[in-house]
Formats: sequence, structure tokens, C-alpha cells
Amino acid sequence: MSATLPPLAGKLGGLRSSAIRDLLKLTARPEVIGLAGGLPDAELMPRERLAVAADNALRGTGCLQYTESPGWAPLRAVLADRESVRLGRAVDVAEVFVTHGSQQALSLLAEVLLEPGALVVVEDPAYVGALQVFRAAGARIVAVPLDGAGMRVDVLKDLLARGERPALVHTVSNFHNPGGVTQSPARRRELAELAAAHGFWVIEDDPYGELWFDRPAPEPVATYSPNVIRLSSASKIISPTLRVGWMVAPDPVCRAVELLKQGADLCGSALTQQIATELLADETWLTSHVDSVRHAYGERAKTLVHELRTRFGDRVRCTDATGGMFVWVDFTDGTDTELLLPGALAAGVAYVPGSAFAVDGDYRHSMRLCFTTSDAATLTAAVDRLARAAGE
Ligand code: PMP
Repeated sequence: MSATLPPLAGKLGGLRSSAIRDLLKLTARPEVIGLAGGLPDAELMPRERLAVAADNALRGTGCLQYTESPGWAPLRAVLADRESVRLGRAVDVAEVFVTHGSQQALSLLAEVLLEPGALVVVEDPAYVGALQVFRAAGARIVAVPLDGAGMRVDVLKDLLARGERPALVHTVSNFHNPGGVTQSPARRRELAELAAAHGFWVIEDDPYGELWFDRPAPEPVATYSPNVIRLSSASKIISPTLRVGWMVAPDPVCRAVELLKQGADLCGSALTQQIATELLADETWLTSHVDSVRHAYGERAKTLVHELRTRFGDRVRCTDATGGMFVWVDFTDGTDTELLLPGALAAGVAYVPGSAFAVDGDYRHSMRLCFTTSDAATLTAAVDRLARAAGE
């Protein structure tokens, strides 16, 4: 019997799978050096410490039960302490809400903060996971470009001067995915002031802030205005498998998110939240663990940038990689990174062309490289393959 299925929601019309991601999936072969993925290095994740914490949690039965929707209370208390240090003020536990990775915070916040058709400002190039969420929410998306000091707040100002009224501005303030850049302190302050003056929300999406190499990231945008909701995550400092992210948001936002969280999944996992609590509360251990991840990533980033500059010279401009997981490369000689991709894959190296992250700009001459999962020798080989594919 042939059946015609009922339609899907019209608001999903704008959602599409990325053609480039599909291509990369098809060509993921073991001999290809993967600089495309965007994953933290599992070899650096604290397996033994996680096993001890899991064992401790499993000595009781609480970890087997449903937990509170806003998160296990002791975890929220630990996070409130950590965020108090980060934000330079006493963060109340009521302002802290634990989500299934920070990705779920984006999705719940879109439901809480956006009417259909609301204007959302994103950065260009953009974090694709945020674009997916805002498109699914039926938002009207306007992009503001990035430069070396993060979001071009002057372009946002022009938008506001033209009478545009965003409900929400999304920014990845530290070690941008995919752009690699960090927003300057002056722009952070200016963005927060605009949010307060024009009455819009800012989501400061900060999963990479702890992964600085030489010096800590500047003060969060959220330091400057209560309109800024700050998202962070255990994914990059411990492991994404915990699916522990959190937001710091005013109490009414947290209460609205709680109602939606109940509808979405009732609550997070008590087991992984208990494990995360033990690790995040163990300050001495955590500092030394995150230090070792920073050190490894910092060395890899330096190798990658050095090799790119040595092999390509003036043909490329790349970000300095002062933290996080990504280097953004612009070809100054007109190389088209979409056209280059099949040849690069054949030569044994994968990257993501800039166009995969484009909102308004086309970024056909750019690429995102992720340095986290390759050692120095592998990164050197990767750049060699890339240079050969790009016809040195
Ligand atoms: N925001 C940004 C900018 C990211 O790059 C990611 C992970 N790729 C996330 C949010 C989501 O991370 P998680 O859900 O693992 O916390």
C-alpha cells in the first residue's frame, strides 16, 4: 500500500543538511588526515579520573534516579562558584541551569526568547549549530561579519540605526568556531551596552574560553550587562559524552527554560551530572588537567600555523590560534576551497571549506582547520598534502 505521509512543519523549510558535510562523511577514510572534524582529542580526556568518579557515584542510588530539571543541586552549586569567579560577582544558584550540552541551551533559549519571525543576529562565518537552532525556530537571520577582534559591532550599530530590532544576538566571544578569533574587551563592552540600550538579549556562547594558550580570555561579555546569557560546557575541558552544559541567566529566563526542559527531556542524566560535579569541584585536579590540554592544543596550533606560513607564505592569511580548537585560513590568491576539496581528499587531508559556515559572505577562499586530534608530525604531513593539492 502506498501512503502519502502528512507534511512536516513549514517552519522547517529553511533547514538543510550541508552538502559539504555530506561529502566529508562519504570520504572519511583512515588514511585521510582529518582537520575537518572539530572534535576534542579523546586521548587527552581523563578516563581514569572519570572511572573513579563514576564508581563513586554508583556507590549510591541517587545517580540512577531522575534528577531536578534545572540540574542536580550540588552541580549547580559548584557551577555557581566557578561562574562567580569568571563573572566577578556572586552568581546565585537560581541563575544556573544545567542543560544537555550547551547545544540544548541554545535550543531551549530559542524557544523561550523568540517569536516566529523574530530577528536574530549571528556572526558571519557562523557556528552552524546555532544557525540550525535559529532556523528551526523560524527566526529571520541577519549576519554581522567577524574580523580579527571578533564581531564587527560597528556593523551591528548600523543595523540598529537603520531601525532593525533584533530579539537576540548570538556571539562566540572566545576562540571562535569557526573563525578562530576572540572578541576584544572594548567590543564586549560595546555589545553589552547596545543590548542594554536597545533591549535585546545576547547569548554569549563560550565552550572554548578555558582553552587559552598563552593568556586567559578577556572578561566575559556577560560581565557588562544582565541582558547577556552566558553558556558554557564541560565538553571541551572534560568530555562531550557527559552532555553537561550550563547557562547563567536571569531567574525568569531559567524558570521559563525549566518548563521547556520538562517537555523536552524531563531532566538530564543524574549519573553524568554527579560525575561532572566531582571533577569540576576538584579544583587542583581540574587545573592541572585543563593545563595539560591547553599545553597540547597550544603546541599543535603553533605547529599548524607555522607549517601553513612556511609552506604557503603570502598565499594564505591565518588566525594566530591563541586558544580553542580552530585555525581559519584565507587564501589571498583566489584558491577556491570548495573546488580544492576533492583534490585535498585524494591527497589525504580533509578540511571544511569556509562556505559551510557562510551566512552572507561566501568564504569560497577560506577554510577551517581543526588541530586538536593530530600530533605535530601529522599536522606537518597534513600541510604538506594540502600544499601539494593546492599546487605549490
Ligand atoms: N557552541 C559552540 C560555538 C560550539 O562550537 C559547540 C560544539 N561544537 C557547542 C556550542 C555545543 O557544545 P556542547 O553541546 O557539547 O556543549
